[in-house]
Amino acid sequence: MEISKPHAALLSSPGMGHLIPVLELGKSLVTHSNFTVTVFVVASHKSPAESNHLLDSLMRPKLFDIVQLPPIDISGLVFITQLAIMMREVRPALRSAISATKPRPTVLIVDLFGTESFHLADELDMLKYVYVPTSAWFLALTIHVPFLDKEVKGEYNNQIEPLRIPGCKAVRPEDVVHPMLDRTNQQYFEYVRLASEMPMSDGILLNTWEDLEPSTLAALRDESLLGRVAKIPVYPVGPLTRTISGLRSELFDWLDNQPSESVIFVSFGSGGTLSYEQMTELALGLELSQQRFIWVVRPATTEAVDAAFFNSASSDDDRLTCLPEGFLTRTKSVGVVVPMWAPQVAVLMHPSIGGFLTHCGWNSTLESITNGVPMIAWPLYAEQRMNAALLTEELGVAVYSKVLPKKKVMGREEIEKMVRRVMEDKEGHALRTRVKELKHSAEKALSNGGSSYNALRDWHSNVRFTCDAKKCLQKP
Ligand code: UDP
Repeated sequence: MEISKPHAALLSSPGMGHLIPVLELGKSLVTHSNFTVTVFVVASHKSPAESNHLLDSLMRPKLFDIVQLPPIDISGLVFITQLAIMMREVRPALRSAISATKPRPTVLIVDLFGTESFHLADELDMLKYVYVPTSAWFLALTIHVPFLDKEVKGEYNNQIEPLRIPGCKAVRPEDVVHPMLDRTNQQYFEYVRLASEMPMSDGILLNTWEDLEPSTLAALRDESLLGRVAKIPVYPVGPLTRTISGLRSELFDWLDNQPSESVIFVSFGSGGTLSYEQMTELALGLELSQQRFIWVVRPATTEAVDAAFFNSASSDDDRLTCLPEGFLTRTKSVGVVVPMWAPQVAVLMHPSIGGFLTHCGWNSTLESITNGVPMIAWPLYAEQRMNAALLTEELGVAVYSKVLPKKKVMGREEIEKMVRRVMEDKEGHALRTRVKELKHSAEKALSNGGSSYNALRDWHSNVRFTCDAKKCLQKP
């Protein structure tokens, strides 16, 4: 009998936090669904050398081709607007690249920012899916936003009442996603636009799993609730995260020599930055806590909380001069400072890691959960305040300072307290027990017969069924 398989084109928007989950989805489609995959990557404004080097390391093992689309030069705009424009402008290049790919892909999977390429999929007779590499709760808010846009008067973050989403946890006004903070800014219009385009897809893949967000997923499917808007299937196929083993460096030699679960890892994702004042308080807070730590340090800046997305070039000196005088010497025996970028997954997998002070990007969140590491939530941008609320109020795997949303700078004593709560206190034990339960629930979801395994199988069957009907399967 002739075997045929679908060929999926995956389109990733710029930024490590977008590219990493798209590559993980690609790996999963090749390994578990026997797809052919080609990933189309929109190059970022950061140096191509850095991107190539990182891409290379993220691609092991190499299971499919990557096509880098030409970079688009956009400056002076906020990040979401930049992304939206880059993804719009890249469409002619994407069209040529897909048309030139042999055999021709029959399924297009875009991330959150790629929905404007649906027309291209229609034109090329491809099925079209969105991969939302974050929580179901974020998806629920997003597809509900066009309604909120009509109903809510004034700025969202000035509302007194939480923003209600049918069948889901309400969102506190101060926790809304970044693009909702200013309704006159272009990034807000881009967000509402992509929110209304998502339900035009053939389905949505999500990097979460049934047992993590059961009621939100039920609401997304319930036709009397959010299912009314998104009349399309939702497939929670996560958690799709990287596993990295066998890395060797001074950092891992140091970790090997620390007691089990004794080190807190401090990192703010691929884009997070702090002000000078906040860096000083964080350094002194860590020092006061007397806990062992690894801290990924970026140059301080007052520009924006996601400034590292824009400025990648700086010397090691720049990065470390923003630390308080004498800090490195005083903490030499208990702490390691890593400039700019650390092999985060490998660090979180190490048995000496006992806590993660994180900006709550969804990849970081899942990497922490899948390694059984409790968190300190320090959200900065995007949907991270919602993630922090989910982790603390719903899942019970993180502590979150009430000071954070109100004050611009969190003081050293508050930081010390949070670190001790996770690393030393009884509360930390409870968080650790709970996060290990979630780790097992994630493993179960991904294993043969688990909910995410089945969701991916169902998605695959739907794709095959539709492709068969359209006679668009690739022949060997
Ligand atoms: N990351 C890393 N080393 C770093 C910083 C980040 O490997 O020093 C990885 C991290 O493991 C995660 C991704 O970059 O997979 C960041 O994604 P996330 O969604 O957490 O945050 P974003 O960068 O999108 O804000």
